[in-house]
Amino acid sequence: MIITNYHSHSHYCDGKGSLEQQVQGAIAQGLRAFGFSSHCPVPFENQWSMKAERLDDYLRETAALKEKYKGQIELYIGLEVDFLPETPPPAPPQLGRGEITAPFSSAGIGPKDFPMLDYCVGSVHYVELNQFGQPWEIDGSSVEFLACLDTLYDGNIQVALEKYYGIIRQMVETDAPPVVGHLDKIKMHNEARPLFDESEEWYVALVEETLQAIKKVGCIVEINTRGNYKRGLELYPSPWIIARMNQLQIPICINSDSHRPEEITASFPLAFEAARAAGYTHQRVLLEGKWQDVELN
Ligand SMILES: [Zn+2]
Ligand SMILES: [Zn+2]
Repeated sequence: MIITNYHSHSHYCDGKGSLEQQVQGAIAQGLRAFGFSSHCPVPFENQWSMKAERLDDYLRETAALKEKYKGQIELYIGLEVDFLPETPPPAPPQLGRGEITAPFSSAGIGPKDFPMLDYCVGSVHYVELNQFGQPWEIDGSSVEFLACLDTLYDGNIQVALEKYYGIIRQMVETDAPPVVGHLDKIKMHNEARPLFDESEEWYVALVEETLQAIKKVGCIVEINTRGNYKRGLELYPSPWIIARMNQLQIPICINSDSHRPEEITASFPLAFEAARAAGYTHQRVLLEGKWQDVELN
């Protein structure tokens, strides 16, 4: 069986360990190919993205490792690229609610801004500006997520999810990445406060509309195991979505979104099992420089 992982982090962003330690972990765990995908630099401050001034070192170091480990493992240079749609200038901060610490880009960023890579994982981590005029993180702490949800949308998760999936559609329609990252990650906040039921009609319709957009452009959707091994959650996306993806013949790729070497294949048996249960016989992986379908068995 061919095991690969194209979604990984290191000390260049919020992961632990050097790039070389990730490679050694990948070799120890029997991977045929491994992709580096640190969080891309973003035009404002946050706690987890690579700083823009480190990008050159990242590209140099990954290229050197690719050469050094030739014959042992295939290595690919990527980034987990945020898709930030163009936004109007931030509204002035509301008095007493905090201050704007960094201006939000109005130009937007996305996969097309990183043409030097072998591939990228396109992810949506921000939906809009929060109550302090800063980008609103949808995969940070639930306390902050919920505070913003209550302030901006009066707690209406449907409006927030329409916006979130709308941005994913905008990404695939205007700047399609090879791989769409953790499609339904926002569901993780259901743990802190039950916000929505995935079987609700409006939610199923929202997911369907998004899958149709993805199918049209041919992106791969990753099955991301991080929520499972870190928090005991279901996979991203949930098994019913994976089953629908199979009906639509959307290609999948099993990734761990590892943040340390020992996580590189975490929960992979569960993901392989879920893919097979959904009817998949193959996953699409980057081997010998091109995306190709390989058997799951
Ligand atoms: Zn992510
Ligand atoms: Zn990630």
